[in-house]
Amino acid sequence: MVSAKTLDNRQVELAPDVISALKARVKGPVLTPADAGYDESRTVWNAMIDRRPALVVRCLGTGDVIAGVQFAREHNLLLCLKGGGHNIAGLATSDGALMLDMSPMRGVWVDQSGRVAHAQAGCLLGDVDRECQLYGLAAVLGFVSATGITGLTLGGGFGYLTKRWGWTTDNVAGFDLVTADGRLVRADHENNADLFWGLCGGGGNFGVVTGIDYQLYPVGPEVVGGVVAWPAAEAPKALGLYRELAASASPELTLVAFMRPAPPAPWLPKDMHGKPIVAILACHSGNPIDGEKAVAPIKSFGSPIGDILVRRPYVQLQSLLDATQPKGRRYYWKSEYLSGIEPALCEKFMHHAANIQSPHSAVIFFQLGDAVGKLPTNHSPVGNRDARYVLNIAAAWERAEEDQRHIEWARTAWTDMKAFSTGGTYINFLNEEEGFERTAAALGGGLERLALIKGKWDPQNFFRTNRNIAPR
Ligand SMILES: Cc1cc2nc3c(=O)[nH]c(=O)nc-3n(C[C@H](O)[C@H](O)[C@H](O)COP(=O)(O)OP(=O)(O)OC[C@H]3O[C@@H](n4cnc5c(N)ncnc54)[C@H](O)[C@@H]3O)c2cc1C
Repeated sequence: MVSAKTLDNRQVELAPDVISALKARVKGPVLTPADAGYDESRTVWNAMIDRRPALVVRCLGTGDVIAGVQFAREHNLLLCLKGGGHNIAGLATSDGALMLDMSPMRGVWVDQSGRVAHAQAGCLLGDVDRECQLYGLAAVLGFVSATGITGLTLGGGFGYLTKRWGWTTDNVAGFDLVTADGRLVRADHENNADLFWGLCGGGGNFGVVTGIDYQLYPVGPEVVGGVVAWPAAEAPKALGLYRELAASASPELTLVAFMRPAPPAPWLPKDMHGKPIVAILACHSGNPIDGEKAVAPIKSFGSPIGDILVRRPYVQLQSLLDATQPKGRRYYWKSEYLSGIEPALCEKFMHHAANIQSPHSAVIFFQLGDAVGKLPTNHSPVGNRDARYVLNIAAAWERAEEDQRHIEWARTAWTDMKAFSTGGTYINFLNEEEGFERTAAALGGGLERLALIKGKWDPQNFFRTNRNIAPR
């Protein structure tokens, strides 16, 4: 017997013959807590999240997704959906639920002449980048290659190419989706346009995405990208340089500034490991000659302790940060959108960086702006088109007994800096304890329309293990 949770929060026992019937309906493995592989599926990137689904279906294709949805409906089971498992709030996993683990579905098909990639919903960012770069093309995705495409896209999505082409969802041509009643539908500008609008920021509220079509752009294969780092004592000037360069950067150039203890990276001197640094991460995605000119002021600034801001393959840049964000650490983030970076905010940024409690924590400014601001706010539920930066206070540590200390650091820094926010925040950076009022801040004016779309496509709120929107 396997004990599972129903949609109305009751426990039910699933008898062996019921589980056998599910196994007969799907091609992929069905895992109970007793099976090898169950722990790999149930765990997510953030080790703060420790939940145990009742059953996992590792979906090999759309047929498995439909069978999983139908089975959950027949038994009134809570359902959870796992893409890359990178959501910091652990939305991919849920106690007692039937999990559809999409990780076996990692195919990518590139239409070179149409400049579109079709990616299955279990892809990680690196899967899409790698296939698209074979043709010198790229989709607008994020900064860490092990992140899942589906969670990232359904929440908006941003990365090095966002200033040129907008949020990830601004560049989605269509979704394939299994609905709450187990139907496979297409959502794009021509088909189910209301659903398409909702998916472009409204998360997993409307169904199980099985594939995403991304509009592609010529990028690379070489770009100018990487990091320059200085001792934290240089931060007042380095952040001044960052503000100045970021404010005038062309859409091809995306700049990220961060402060943290130096990681034990081979490009940083050993005697600096663990000591506080300030750094600028850059990507110029246009012509590399223009890129080298654009980043020259960063490379020639002060006396860097490390400089790996060079011409490199785009795919390599896309995984440059991976080692700093491993699965299995404990993570707690607070984030806000900013319309600019004022000197007073830089002062606070430096102050809280100096109080970092862990070798893995950081304070970060990501850059947005340009193309993000060119579309009307109601173009998609992501909204927040006035955002020019994201402030991310990112605590990361190893041991559970230290939770309080690191969470406290992040909360204190956020409380002190949130006055600089536009009032909006990024839905995909919300942590486990941030509730509906933060979802509302992230979705801005789109909530009402999303609730109506939810009412049409999922009136019983079958899909609820997400940033949930009540159906209307
Ligand atoms: C190290 C790291 C780096 C990041 N960098 C960026 C970045 O550069 N840019 C950016 O925009 N964001 C970034 N993020 C945030 C990221 O967008 C979110 O964590 C996102 O939720 C990850 O997607 P996932 O598929 O891995 O999520 P999961 O944790 O698997 O799922 C997240 C949510 O998506 C839903 N979902 C998953 N699969 C499906 C499906 N097939 N159909 C419907 N719903 C589904 C789940 O129900 C859940 O609610 C980063 C996160 C991490 C941890």
